[in-house]
Amino acid sequence: MKSVLTLALCLAVIVSAQAQSQLKPPTEPVIDRFLRYVKIDTQSAEDQTTVPSTRKQLNLANLLAKELTTVGAQGVRVSEFGIVYAMIPGNLPDNSKVPTVGLIAHMDTSPEVSGANVMPIIHKNYQGGDIVLPKDPNQVISVAKNPILKQMIGDDIITADGTTLLGSDDKAGCAEIMTMIDTLKQNPQIKHGNLAIAFTPDEEVGGGIEKFDVKNFGANVAYTVDGESLGEISNETWSAKTATVTFQGRNTHPGTAKGIMVNALYAIADYLDRFPHDILPETTEERVGFAHPYTGTLEVEQSVLKILLRDFDLRGLEAKEKMLRDMVTQTQAKFPDVKITIDVKENYKNMKEVLKDFPELTDNAIEASKRAGLQPYIKPIRGGTDGARLTFNGLPTPNLFTGGQNFHGKLEFNSRRGLEKTTEMLINLVQIFAAK
Ligand SMILES: [Zn+2]
Repeated sequence: MKSVLTLALCLAVIVSAQAQSQLKPPTEPVIDRFLRYVKIDTQSAEDQTTVPSTRKQLNLANLLAKELTTVGAQGVRVSEFGIVYAMIPGNLPDNSKVPTVGLIAHMDTSPEVSGANVMPIIHKNYQGGDIVLPKDPNQVISVAKNPILKQMIGDDIITADGTTLLGSDDKAGCAEIMTMIDTLKQNPQIKHGNLAIAFTPDEEVGGGIEKFDVKNFGANVAYTVDGESLGEISNETWSAKTATVTFQGRNTHPGTAKGIMVNALYAIADYLDRFPHDILPETTEERVGFAHPYTGTLEVEQSVLKILLRDFDLRGLEAKEKMLRDMVTQTQAKFPDVKITIDVKENYKNMKEVLKDFPELTDNAIEASKRAGLQPYIKPIRGGTDGARLTFNGLPTPNLFTGGQNFHGKLEFNSRRGLEKTTEMLINLVQIFAAK
């Protein structure tokens, strides 16, 4: 009996492996689609009052909308804020029995480095060693700083030419989701429920997701496809607050200031001196949070200090806030003539606070990665994501890998395998939701 079971299991594995290799290919390979998208300049801009922050993002939005229609999506629309929405109807006897899964990628690239005239270069059949980018020999992707290169022998590595970023963040996500949809259309034997698709602007400047229409998007759960190395799954960000400490002094003409002037600069210096050295960004990593005085103004009359607070644990965040308030009390005691006030605002919370109640989201992503032959792992993000905001707006949304590396810089890269394996993982993922 046992051997019969084993045999049956073996056969099942062989059938699924065969089925995967027998898939009809998409109409366009994911790498070709990716190379087309990165050539479209979609750089977003800081401190704009409109969404999208730059009109050029609409060039990719409109193209994606057109291509979504071509691959059979329904209800394709580009909102007034440049968000592309679409629905891929499921092919199950009753699609309402499985959750509608959302897949989201962002179209914009970082304001930090130019995304105009991106010239992607394919380093075919990489054989090890540092990669020097041809248009600027100072731009070197070194094995020392990128040990992941050692796992990429034989892969086709894709970089920019040294003058721009590549834009894999997050056009890899866009290309992988589109190729998944294309592959589903070519292979109706792949069973899946309804899939809600969105491509968003302004992720890099944090404005786009505020305009996201969670209700009409129609998903029960979702994933952003915006992470890095193959296998990396993130269901946790840290929680974030910003503190503003104001030191109110009294200014007057320095020639007649005796007994009148109260110089706020000395109070702010005293306050800064009280920061413990072991809780700063420059002294912490991994799961350890920080307090980071990062900007301010210095005036005799009024000096202001801004401080970022970050911690994966809400209690840890509260402890840091209490520390700042205690330091205010101490400095105030030393400088009774300066009026010191502190104001703390919440920016975002760790999405794990919500996602802990949706373990299947992480579990299914792990299973989908394993079926693609990858070794999945959970990585907490030392930052915020669009998914974190969506999670607190009612749509639980962890983040999945794209295969990309070195985001926001000229040394950004991805690879053929990175793009193909992520696409394969997404195809597995929608099937796993359908099978449950
Ligand atoms: Zn991104």
